[in-house]
Amino acid sequence: MQFTHEHREIQATLKRYIDEHINPHVDEWEAAEIFPAHEVFKGLGQLGLLGLTKPEAFGGAGLDYSYSLAMAEALGHIHCGGVPMAIGVQTDMATPALARFGSDELRAQFLAPAIAGDMVGCIGVSEPGAGSDVSAIKTTARKDGDDYVISGQKMWITNSLQADWMCMLVNTSEGPAHKNKSLVMVPLRENGKTVKGFEVGQKIRKIGMNSSDTGLLFFDEVRVPQRYRIGAEGAGFIYQMQQFQEERLWAAASCIQSLSNCIQWTVDYAQDRQLFGATLADQQWVQFKLAEMKTEVESLRALTYQACEHYVAGEDVTEWATMAKLKAGRLNRLVPDTCLQFWGGMGYTWENKVSRMFRDGRLASIGGGADEVMLGILAKTMGLQKSSLRR
Ligand SMILES: Cc1cc2nc3c(=O)[nH]c(=O)nc-3n(C[C@H](O)[C@H](O)[C@H](O)COP(=O)(O)OP(=O)(O)OC[C@H]3O[C@@H](n4cnc5c(N)ncnc54)[C@H](O)[C@@H]3O)c2cc1C
Repeated sequence: MQFTHEHREIQATLKRYIDEHINPHVDEWEAAEIFPAHEVFKGLGQLGLLGLTKPEAFGGAGLDYSYSLAMAEALGHIHCGGVPMAIGVQTDMATPALARFGSDELRAQFLAPAIAGDMVGCIGVSEPGAGSDVSAIKTTARKDGDDYVISGQKMWITNSLQADWMCMLVNTSEGPAHKNKSLVMVPLRENGKTVKGFEVGQKIRKIGMNSSDTGLLFFDEVRVPQRYRIGAEGAGFIYQMQQFQEERLWAAASCIQSLSNCIQWTVDYAQDRQLFGATLADQQWVQFKLAEMKTEVESLRALTYQACEHYVAGEDVTEWATMAKLKAGRLNRLVPDTCLQFWGGMGYTWENKVSRMFRDGRLASIGGGADEVMLGILAKTMGLQKSSLRR
């Protein structure tokens, strides 16, 4: 896959916005453990960056997924992982199913304002008792007249301290766990107030991604019209698995630039740092490690671009997106850890940019499907799992 002039223009526009409106505030937002999502998203929305692949009828640009990939990559210029992740939730995690399967009414009410940057969205899949095993979620949407009445808990939800709505996976009936779920659009806040029955139980403190707010949320008989369901009843598990493909492609693409930055910062530092009568970069061990990691990051780029090419061609990319996400998780542990070592004590300080990557990047092996979940999917696509485990 080759980026065109248009891809590069989108990246340049985003980078200018990052340099002017995001990076100067990142340290402050990291310390506050939240960033002003409405303000940042409004700016991105005005530049047309929140709906690159979304339908033009709802304010999107109607482009193919390679443009989303170009944007995800350029988000790596942000000096932390939390703000890019929050933006990715809005563009590639909470909205793909809504854009593809939502009714026109739902898309006008929730997608168009999300693309314009007037509303902040979040994706509610995980719960205290169900993360890797999505089929085990307990939150229910009981039918009452024309409404659903939703009760349960959602945990680890990015953007949820500020979000106006949630794309929520709920059980809409009894029955087999892969056929009883639906995705429902749930308003969380209206006119600055939380809706009746919805409560933030806790803002979760984390070792990294600090500028991104993460919530434990309670739903006690929250009422939404049944027409807020995305697509067919009972198809939610399948829709979410499809939505995960974009989340995983995005996760892989969004770390290519930041991993490259981490290596380059360390090259610069090693060339400057004096020890034993030479520079740190004069040590062949350091040279070889840095060279090897650059090769690994370029392998991730090649894999992710290839996955994207297949996706743009309309193919099922379960296997490609899974491999790219797995590789991204692995490199987010290897690269910042190895680089941090070369910074010595400086790498162990809180403010150091490599140490922030070390903390932020650790999530890549856990969120959006842990490494082991990726390996399980690959084992299945390779026909390796025992027949009793095949679903
Ligand atoms: C900062 C942050 C932001 C997040 N944002 C969101 C969000 O916006 N929306 C949302 O819905 N969720 C979100 N999540 C949740 C995230 O997707 C889950 O944490 C993740 O899916 C893992 O689930 P779990 O934490 O319940 O771990 P568990 O499911 O309990 O798994 C624990 C560990 O078990 C291992 N494991 C899992 N499966 C297997 C297996 N088959 N074989 C062997 N080992 C295995 C893995 O090492 C895994 O890390 C977020 C999480 C974090 C930390």
